[in-house]
Amino acid sequence: MDHPENDEKYIGLNVNSGVQQPPVVNPYLQPRRKKALPSASELVEGILRGDITMLSRAVTMVESLSPQHQAIAQEVIEKCLPHSGNSRRIGITGVPGAGKSTSIDSFGLHVLKGGGKLAVLAIDPSSERTKGSILGDKTRMERLAVHPDAFVRPSPSAGSLGGVARKTRETIVLCEAAGFNNIFVETVGVGQSETAVHSMVDFFLLLQLAGTGDELQGIKRGIMEMADGIVINKADGDNIPRAQLAQAQFRSALHLFPPTASGWQPEVLTYSGYYELGIAEVWDMIDRYFEFVKGNGYFEQKRLQQARYWMYETIDEQLRRHFYDNPRIAALLADKEARVLANRQSSFTAARDVLNAYFEE
Ligand code: GDP
Repeated sequence: MDHPENDEKYIGLNVNSGVQQPPVVNPYLQPRRKKALPSASELVEGILRGDITMLSRAVTMVESLSPQHQAIAQEVIEKCLPHSGNSRRIGITGVPGAGKSTSIDSFGLHVLKGGGKLAVLAIDPSSERTKGSILGDKTRMERLAVHPDAFVRPSPSAGSLGGVARKTRETIVLCEAAGFNNIFVETVGVGQSETAVHSMVDFFLLLQLAGTGDELQGIKRGIMEMADGIVINKADGDNIPRAQLAQAQFRSALHLFPPTASGWQPEVLTYSGYYELGIAEVWDMIDRYFEFVKGNGYFEQKRLQQARYWMYETIDEQLRRHFYDNPRIAALLADKEARVLANRQSSFTAARDVLNAYFEE
């Protein structure tokens, strides 16, 4: 059949002679030299000088899983310890959307106006799953991120909550040695991470929102009990009356709580992180708290208790890692788990067998 495409001008494809392709690898490029690992004493010296690059590198080693990095990190921490402790450690928690990053940005600038330096760290247990930290992200704290006296570091992402929290605890030591006299530790107010944060800070601030129905809902009683201060955020515009109502509700709820170990009566304030209303008042409350606990000796006592807590936490975490990272145990565990799931062995005898194998090693 005669078809227009059978016309000679369509038949056959012309093959043009090609051009020489450049090599895939640029021959002029020098192989990239790996940055030499800084020694522990170089890092310590840099940190004590307040060198942020050295501080960041040391924090990266604290967060690293490599045994070589860990060894350097531990030496750095040990040497920084005598230079640490001289700061206000403040934990900040609240459900997502409560305004943590907006508030930290505003509080942070307020604090820095009075001089000194501020480090913002985070504990975000979900970051392990999302492979990206939601907390402490620099872009969330626009003004602090570019402030020369602020150091904003996202949550360490690898490992269990205990592991993530320990790394943040160690990072506090490094930041303090680098001269940061204000440390904020942020966490999402939805799970166990508050307990971890509470165990490393002097003051625990709970951010709340008004106008979400039952104000006390969604926040666990345990978290409220830990709070040294509750602040109702977004008290601006039409929301002011609702914020005041929530403030009254929280105040009366707190009255039902047992007295705190510090003897401090937790306060409830309203403010607006976004419009920067009431920021100074919140900061004044924190000032009063520090004056109070330094006066009655609770400040020192709590820090010592925390040091003890972290000793045991670190032991627990390392034991756990040593156990689960053992390849023979991992294989045995997989086998035992399958047996338990198939109802062929009880949980207890399976656990006993695995533990026996571990201790016999
Ligand atoms: P986070 O998830 O707790 O860190 O909360 P964000 O700081 O990201 O704030 C969540 C949303 O609430 C953002 O859209 C903010 O702009 C808004 N927001 C934060 N603080 C205030 C405030 O004081 N007033 C008002 N009206 N909105 C705020």
